Amino acid sequence: MDRIDAEKPLPELAEHHRDPHSYPSGVAFLDGQYVPMAEAKISVLDWGFLHSDATYDTVHVWNGCFFRLDEHLNRFFGGLEKLRMTIPHDRAAVAEILHNCVALSGHRAAYVEMLCTRGASPTFSRDPRDAINRFMAFAVPYGSVANASQMERGLHLAISDTVRIPPVSIDPSIKNYHWLDLVRGLYEAYDRGAETALVLDTDGNVAEGPGFNVFAVQAGALTTPASGVLPGITRRTVFDIAKGIGVPAEAAPLSRTALSGADEVFITSTAGGIMPVTRIDGKAVGDGLPGPITKRLKDLYWKKHGDPVWSSPIRYPD
Ligand SMILES: *Cc1c(COP(=O)(O)O)cnc(C)c1O
Repeated sequence: MDRIDAEKPLPELAEHHRDPHSYPSGVAFLDGQYVPMAEAKISVLDWGFLHSDATYDTVHVWNGCFFRLDEHLNRFFGGLEKLRMTIPHDRAAVAEILHNCVALSGHRAAYVEMLCTRGASPTFSRDPRDAINRFMAFAVPYGSVANASQMERGLHLAISDTVRIPPVSIDPSIKNYHWLDLVRGLYEAYDRGAETALVLDTDGNVAEGPGFNVFAVQAGALTTPASGVLPGITRRTVFDIAKGIGVPAEAAPLSRTALSGADEVFITSTAGGIMPVTRIDGKAVGDGLPGPITKRLKDLYWKKHGDPVWSSPIRYPD
């Protein structure tokens, strides 16, 4: 049958009507084709959507270069293997697809995602082994957990009472879309006047937030939660940078009180890098300003984006 528009908007209302389904400018890859973001669509029967049966990874492009692409590819292919998913592209082919999405988008600062869903079974069986896995990728403009003013003055964070889905249930090293605990934490944080949230591990220690890891700085040394968290590549990068400048860093249990009483606190994510936190549960962290160690690590982190060991350039079309 022909497609029928339920409601044809008047010309002057067109923009408004488009809003709920508007897309950022960018390029996606699916089913062997590069398409504008608005055309990147999947079936509502895809188990990635119906069961959250999917894995993904996000890498960023800064100044026209990927940052630590190899690490992101490692994590993505590790997730595929653990979930027993297969895609018709090897590592080099995925790297090429990601590269092409960015080059075609023209973005010099981009948020680039590769993902694989379980897909669906052609016979509608309930057996995941019958499903045809779907690989997709896209490049959209770079986005950050913290906006410009939060970056400047530090984020205001709340420690939610929500417990992150435990590693015995879902292996956190598989980057995944099980976010109902994180979203619940976010609403708790908003209700308490904070801007973002941390959730707990099953021992009641601090775990992570919606798409980011957390670090405490105490007496010049860094601590980040050891378990029950996604091993972030920005988190790893902080360890690498800290080692290079002789700042001690360890992964260890981090209690709520240790975090709230720290000299400095920051969060880490591919979406935003190293971001200062200056209030936790309504109380100032240290003197309430982004701290010197946080600033130093952040400056080095962005400087590393020009280092060819960690960055690879996009070849944009002329
Ligand atoms: C992606 C993600 C992070 C941060 O990892 P990066 O590799 O630094 O971007 C932290 N926690 C969760 C739950 C994530 O999904």
